[in-house]
Amino acid sequence: MQATMMNIPLSLNHLLERAGTLFPQSPITSRLPDKSLRTHTFGQFHRRARALASALQTLGLKKGDRVATLSWNHHAHLECYFGIPAAGGVMHTLNLRLSPDEIGWIAGDAQDRFLVIDDVLLPLYQQFAHLHRFEKVIVFSFSGAAVPAGFADYEALLAQADPDGFQYADHDENDPVAMCYTSGTTGRPKGVAYSHRSTILHALVGCLGDFWGLKGTDVLLPVTPMFHANCWGVPYGAVMMGVELVFPGPHLHPDDLLDLMTQKPPSLSLGVPTIWMGLIQTFDAAQNPSSPNHGRWKLPAGMRSLVGGAAVPEALIRAFDKHGIWLLQGWGMTETSPLATVSYPKADLKDADLDERYRRAAMAGVPVPLVDLRIQGDEGLQPWDGKSVGEIQVRGPFITGSYHQVPVTEDKFTQDGWLRTGDVASVDALGFVKISDRTKDLIKSGGEWISSVDLENALMAHPAVAEAAVIAIPDEKWSERPLACVVVKPDAVAPTAAEFGAHLLGKGFAKWQLPDRYEWIDAVPRTSTGKFWKMRLRERFVG
Ligand code: ADP
Repeated sequence: MQATMMNIPLSLNHLLERAGTLFPQSPITSRLPDKSLRTHTFGQFHRRARALASALQTLGLKKGDRVATLSWNHHAHLECYFGIPAAGGVMHTLNLRLSPDEIGWIAGDAQDRFLVIDDVLLPLYQQFAHLHRFEKVIVFSFSGAAVPAGFADYEALLAQADPDGFQYADHDENDPVAMCYTSGTTGRPKGVAYSHRSTILHALVGCLGDFWGLKGTDVLLPVTPMFHANCWGVPYGAVMMGVELVFPGPHLHPDDLLDLMTQKPPSLSLGVPTIWMGLIQTFDAAQNPSSPNHGRWKLPAGMRSLVGGAAVPEALIRAFDKHGIWLLQGWGMTETSPLATVSYPKADLKDADLDERYRRAAMAGVPVPLVDLRIQGDEGLQPWDGKSVGEIQVRGPFITGSYHQVPVTEDKFTQDGWLRTGDVASVDALGFVKISDRTKDLIKSGGEWISSVDLENALMAHPAVAEAAVIAIPDEKWSERPLACVVVKPDAVAPTAAEFGAHLLGKGFAKWQLPDRYEWIDAVPRTSTGKFWKMRLRERFVG
């Protein structure tokens, strides 16, 4: 017997058409560089995304060609999320927080043909333009200024295009629609390519009631960058459900976010813990009658908030709950689209006291539907007893099975086809994952990666340094910050932190990636196999 269902490919184009037909009046508001607000409707978004797709085809875009974006969160970036795949292209979001050298390398690795860029980011583009030649650089005038000579003008391209006559590119549901790069532990970043199918399934799962539960009546504020892990997939879900969107543009300072939340109160928001920490501290400080900001802001009553990308401290969850805002913690990675687990109040917790609920909310949470999760220890698979620890391994239809043009290796994928996440955790009998460590040698500061191995290599390239090991130290504001343990050569004078800073900036590190602290040690402790024994350094300097 055969199933009788139609075999219609899952498609982002369906979401775009749905938005234009069913929700033409839903608003999309973007905060511009001068902090003013500009509002479009979903009807305009639908026409403009189709116009972009038509313009890209006129420029010669072929199926599977990569179109990079270098943009803040705003309406035109959303148009790229849908317009590029509609034309048959693959949207490749470049991460503007990376160093220019890294951005240029990534654009080259992805073989990006075109670039869509905010005019305010052109100074960054000039710093990596020599590393990769885009056939066309299309400038979106986010600031409202005239587009400089030598670049294509996004608005002019859209104005000349024919959204009504546009025909969607034929596609299979497994064709790629978007691409993001992950930070490499060692070596270069690696590309992950998402398909129509994976993106739609991920958006549907995210929209379920226990997770972000997107409703048409929601007002969504995505603070999470659209240039990192597809903004956790919420732009797709929002378009699917016609949800009002409020984009913060480049203004992510707590004062700015609180101003925006007061002006356009969201019912759902998302961001990394660092941003939420700054927000609540600023808000609470303003409650003091002597504060110059007293009475300036209101926190949206009943707002739901999805926080992830780094561990969410229980204190942060409690601080928001005091204001009636519940933080839902999510765990995942670029490779997992990214949502893989969510800590939500499971039915098993209905009789649990508040302390227990907070404790659970501070865990990574429960695997979402379609994601299989297991814990692999040194001695095999670990039971879900809340104690046994091992590496989290996952598989599912929105989890990558390989990297773009990189051979599949056993340090990233198991022989039986699971992704090795490099995160170490236990799972308890209720299915709650608790992350305890990370095997990948990376530091996550404010939601962005710093490679400890790259820092060590750069430090060891300094003529006065014999050895250097870099570890993550917990930080209240940034979640983690780098600490460098340095062994100076016997006949050398120890460089100062400022000298090291200049040296590292010269090696292509961004300012925020520089170590906060240096410790001078006699030797880096080693394991029996001769590797840096960072656990010993953590015990010594972190306690
Ligand atoms: P993103 O930052 O978008 O989640 P990345 O691929 O840059 O994606 O980072 C994924 C990594 O971030 C995870 O492997 C894990 O180490 C860390 N991470 C993400 N969410 C959490 C969380 N809730 N708790 C602890 N670590 C997390």
